[in-house]
Amino acid sequence: MSFTRTKIICTIGPATETISALKKLHNNGMNVARINMSHATHKSAKAVIDRINKINKDAKVESGKIGVLLDTQGPEIRTGDTELPLDLKVGDEVTLTVRDQVDVETSSIKINYKDLIHSVSEGSKISVDNGLINFKVLSKDEETLLCKVLDGGKLGSKRHVNLPGVRVNLPSLTAKDIEDINFGVKNGVDFIALSFVRNSDDLEKLQIILDKKKSKAKIIAKIENQEGLDNIHNICKASWGVMVARGDLGIETSLTDLPNIQRRIMYACAKWGRRSIVATHLLESMIENPTPTRAEVTDIANAIYEGADAIMLSGETSVGKYPSECVTFLKSIAEKTEKFRTLGYEKNFTPNSDWQHIGVAAKNLAETINADGIIAITRTGKTANYISNSKPNGIPVFTFTGNKKTLNQLSLIGSTVPFYLSNLSNHDKTLANVSKILKKYYGKDKKDLKFIMVSSIFSEEHSEAIQIINI
Ligand code: PGA
Ligand code: MN
Repeated sequence: MSFTRTKIICTIGPATETISALKKLHNNGMNVARINMSHATHKSAKAVIDRINKINKDAKVESGKIGVLLDTQGPEIRTGDTELPLDLKVGDEVTLTVRDQVDVETSSIKINYKDLIHSVSEGSKISVDNGLINFKVLSKDEETLLCKVLDGGKLGSKRHVNLPGVRVNLPSLTAKDIEDINFGVKNGVDFIALSFVRNSDDLEKLQIILDKKKSKAKIIAKIENQEGLDNIHNICKASWGVMVARGDLGIETSLTDLPNIQRRIMYACAKWGRRSIVATHLLESMIENPTPTRAEVTDIANAIYEGADAIMLSGETSVGKYPSECVTFLKSIAEKTEKFRTLGYEKNFTPNSDWQHIGVAAKNLAETINADGIIAITRTGKTANYISNSKPNGIPVFTFTGNKKTLNQLSLIGSTVPFYLSNLSNHDKTLANVSKILKKYYGKDKKDLKFIMVSSIFSEEHSEAIQIINI
């Protein structure tokens, strides 16, 4: 498979949960499988994790291991169950009831958030079903809101509700989230994405849970609303990676401002050297169609120009008709776009530690001497992270680790090509193995390979060495 810097995340669902479908996604370029706890049960999630473990066991090193990302539901507000979808027409007046019981009259729409009444005022907007249906609040009493339908449609059961601009008074980690996180930790997931992150405290709470359980899972902060955006720098500092959750952001903030918001978040990730994910609606039209729209292709290219570590598919791969074709398109767009990446975002990255400077030095040296790649030898993935932060242009970072958890987590670090290599303590042996693997990677046709190697393993403790290696 050809080298691309950009990693691909696929949400697994009914369209892709069989072993053959998962294998196909992996062969086409999937790096990370996302399990969305808004939909998955522990039983279905466990089955998917088992299948991925099996594929990982058999996987060729060159194709990398699939990382598993568990995405929490977060403090989501939803409508209740309706037997038949409600057909809402523009101008209709409807009541929204916020009692938790199910015995409400069928003509009203149930909402599972008790504080809704206090959170909104006359004239407030309430968005349902990812912004498809919109209400304006006309008046309120103790338990109900009288609303006018601004945008109509068919309202089914358990639809997602957004209250744009409102600070929702729900815990950042719900009881369900904690159960799901415990499940994820028990099953060794590599990444945990926290939904609707509002400030760094939310992330610290999760880190405490992970530390208590001795979990090495990395935390991804999902930026989904104005408050998260306002605190982006502190959130970046407290997380390992950040997701631009465009689905909710597009409703909670301003849809027409979304491109700028995406850039601001990508800037912050570059500044703090954090992994970055651009998510939602990348190939939305491919849920139904075998080819994407021109606008979708261009949007994906933009995310790559912005230096995203990963791009993420949701409905496209969980319920869509063409999941593996979607991955092929992403891979191909990445291949074409990365060649032309005019580089800019790494300029926002100011190295803020000696380690980060080593990453930049390795990148500069590799580009100056036209190296075939950068070799990183790492235990925890730290070396790979700071080389990736410098975003070497078109240069693979061949990353060797003897730690299986780190190996899986490389699936979300842009530019890395992961390899497992045990017994890294012997210098000569390690170099011989690295040479053998890289010769094989490039094939017989390419002779006189030149690499920059970065490693702390062969040097004094707490120091990092950069070398030029000819193979
Ligand atoms: P979700 O998050 O798919 O869990 O809603 C992503 C988004 O909001 O874009
Ligand atoms: Mn969301």
